[in-house]
Amino acid sequence: MSRLDSFIRRMTAQRDILNHVCVEVAKTEGPVIELGLGNGRTFNHLRERLPGRRIVAFDRKLAAHASSIPDADNLVLGEIRETASTFVGIEAALVHADIGTGYEDRDAVTLTWLPDLSARLLRPGGIAVSGLPLEHPQLQQLPPPPSVPADRYFIYRRV
Ligand code: SAM
Repeated sequence: MSRLDSFIRRMTAQRDILNHVCVEVAKTEGPVIELGLGNGRTFNHLRERLPGRRIVAFDRKLAAHASSIPDADNLVLGEIRETASTFVGIEAALVHADIGTGYEDRDAVTLTWLPDLSARLLRPGGIAVSGLPLEHPQLQQLPPPPSVPADRYFIYRRV
């Protein structure tokens, strides 16, 4: 599969999974945590799907399209491992983590802290969606919607 095909499949999976979980997240109290604002595409999508919901977005630097920049109160710049730790207890309804790099060694380092951080940001019953698998005793894996291959993007419920 070419990198273009792979990219299209990843974006399609991301959109389908976000649409899938937003139905439930819309009925759950709590903010949304966007780990990896990047260009702001998924932030923009979540804002559209969850109107009025607080979305706090994190990245090491601002590189989003001008149409997709959170207000200053909800944009946190720096290393997510440190910055998002100060939000533990926020009782998020959704944590969306899109910080995989495609490099196994770098992602392995991220996976030493991301699962626990995600679990601690969520309220019980809250949902985590991630491009990297999140193995954690408090995160129960849920099946993806039928259009998404099982190992492409991952969904969990905080028990
Ligand atoms: N979901 C975004 C979108 O739709 O535009 C794309 C996110 S992009 C794939 C990943 C982003 O996460 C990059 O902007 C990168 O700077 C940020 N990132 C990755 N690891 C990070 C870390 N440990 N701390 C802060 N930012 C990080």
